[in-house]
Amino acid sequence: MDLALEEARMAAARGEVPVGAVVVFNGEVIASAGNRTRELNDVTAHAEIVVIREACRIVGDERLIGADLYVTLEPCTMCATAISFARLRRLYYGAEDPKGGGVDNGVRFFSQPTCHHAPDVYSDISGQSAAEILREFFAERR
Ligand SMILES: [Zn+2]
Repeated sequence: MDLALEEARMAAARGEVPVGAVVVFNGEVIASAGNRTRELNDVTAHAEIVVIREACRIVGDERLIGADLYVTLEPCTMCATAISFARLRRLYYGAEDPKGGGVDNGVRFFSQPTCHHAPDVYSDISGQSAAEILREFFAERR
């Protein structure tokens, strides 16, 4: 999660909403990324999507069976769906997102009958640090 937090800080430095994500496979970090929606003019370039794409490229598979995702903010519905489709084993996330989350808030995608694979979810992993990075970012923008 420390590496995900570092990715979040680097995203903030690029002017992106500071969210960072890391994929761990067989005990090793295989990919890490931050939000790149502004840089790429791509609303789907959330940290989770970027890191899943990169991890799949490295593994050479469309699925990441047995891999774990660390992300600093509760994934939105789009990212929760991608996590499910990628068959990730575990999801560790930092801060809860009552406004935009889709895991423990909003649609709670993993609990829906249309969700065919749900990872084990661990919330509030370094949640305070993750929330602090977001708070600082938005405070500076006001
Ligand atoms: Zn997302």
